[in-house]
Amino acid sequence: MLCPCGSTLLFNACCQLFITQKQYPSTAEQLMRSRFSAYATKKGQYIFDTYGATPQLKQSVTEIQAWADECLWLALVVHHTTESTVEFSAYYVVDNTLCELREKSNFSLEQGRWRYIDGDITLHNEITFNNGTPTIKRNDICPCNYYSTAWSAKKGKKFKHCCAK
Ligand SMILES: [Zn+2]
Ligand SMILES: [Zn+2]
Repeated sequence: MLCPCGSTLLFNACCQLFITQKQYPSTAEQLMRSRFSAYATKKGQYIFDTYGATPQLKQSVTEIQAWADECLWLALVVHHTTESTVEFSAYYVVDNTLCELREKSNFSLEQGRWRYIDGDITLHNEITFNNGTPTIKRNDICPCNYYSTAWSAKKGKKFKHCCAK
């Protein structure tokens, strides 16, 4: 399986190494990508564990897991990276509605490990789909076809035979 982060590498040669803690991300962008991949593969514990110590106090694994489970995570697009920030768009489907979450995230090294601190959401929108509606029907072409970084894309397939499976 391809890595959900859109690297075009296999998952087990990319973010899975971090999610299973065989390796630790050496950059903020690697951590950000691995957190997206953890959402996509529904690994709530990893998302919780990679919050910084202070923001972690306001999180719960149960809530993170519920949100990860509720969404189909289609694609990640990284727009801009600095040493400690990553601006990205995450595309996902919830309640058959296609959404884009664009965020500029802040990361920090804590005891030698990159952690997610917080982020400014610059856009959080439903995306108008086929017929001027954000609602995806099961027979529509899967919206992952629009994103070159979609990891589970089956070119030209209907939603019901692709990401909705
Ligand atoms: Zn990856
Ligand atoms: Zn798809």
